[in-house]
Amino acid sequence: MEGWRAWIEVDLDALWANYLLLKARAQGEVIPVLKADAYGHGALSIARFLEERGVGRFAVATIAEGRALREGGVWGEVLLLGSLHPLEAEAALRWGLTPTLSTLEAARALAERARALGLTPRAHLKVDTGMNRVGFPWEEALAALRAVEALGVRVEGVYSHLATAGEDEAFVEVQRGRFQRVREALGPGYFYHLENSYGLLLHGGENARVGLALYGLVPGFGLRPVLRLLARPTLVKRLKAGDRVGYGGAFVAQGGEWLATLPVGYADGLPRGAVAFVRGPGGEPFRVAGRISMDQTTVLLPGPVDLWAVFEVLSPDFGPTGLLAWAEARGTIPYEVAVHLSRRLPRVYLLEGVEWARAGG
Ligand SMILES: *Cc1c(COP(=O)(O)O)cnc(C)c1O
Repeated sequence: MEGWRAWIEVDLDALWANYLLLKARAQGEVIPVLKADAYGHGALSIARFLEERGVGRFAVATIAEGRALREGGVWGEVLLLGSLHPLEAEAALRWGLTPTLSTLEAARALAERARALGLTPRAHLKVDTGMNRVGFPWEEALAALRAVEALGVRVEGVYSHLATAGEDEAFVEVQRGRFQRVREALGPGYFYHLENSYGLLLHGGENARVGLALYGLVPGFGLRPVLRLLARPTLVKRLKAGDRVGYGGAFVAQGGEWLATLPVGYADGLPRGAVAFVRGPGGEPFRVAGRISMDQTTVLLPGPVDLWAVFEVLSPDFGPTGLLAWAEARGTIPYEVAVHLSRRLPRVYLLEGVEWARAGG
């Protein structure tokens, strides 16, 4: 932390508390979803921490994300969400990633590449129960399973994804009913998983793949956001009457205001037009003056501070400086804001207040 002017701090105690809360709600396994750099939290450090605590299965979206975990020494199962493209079959096998199959073309490519490499083709089968994005149609799940297994692929898991959890409960029940019928048709011997964050939180369930709730970005269930973004000012000064601040001169000073310039901007993931306040060193919210730039943000202060003062640009709570407030002001969902937190910010991981790991910087 010393030596950084702007950084992200991740609270591993809060992350673990969230994991345990979700685990208590699930009748089965909770698979941490680490795609998009763990929703901006840093996938490798999160995976290492969870693996150390005994979590043995993770999910990512791309080969590159899975490969980064393998290169970082993560040995648990890494499930590739989405539908494997045939041209990715070899890379998935080489990096020991478990692909998701929802086409026979991909299953064939996986079986062929595995034969050539002398490896066992393993996969999860995706079943479409109503999202119409990827997956074999649920009515054809048994035929698809037989066809995939006939190619020599070892199907270890079968799953589906909820389209409307937290939005349309009746349709969630339709999808659950379809998935249940798939389970009955395919029988035991497979690892079935359906729930996501809202599915698990609102209904409970068995095995779940969870992202948003693990990072504490769902209010109202006792979950804690785990991430804060901190910055020290690079300049503090007093404005004169009529001074204009930033692009477009959008803020005009009355005269006498104190201004701090923080070295973070929209390239770091602050949504432009949606960050109204930043917390000062004592936790008090200060108003952002003018527009956020690519790399800098200007904040109004009641008085001067020195360049070592630490401002909380993004707070781990559900208040006006939290990620949900940013998303709401931006007219988007917290997922989108979280995944845009830039990798150019170094990250420090704290466990019981002590540095457990750091990344970048
Ligand atoms: C992203 C994703 C999840 C996790 O969803 P959350 O709402 O963040 O819990 C689960 N399953 C699949 C297939 C996903 O793509």
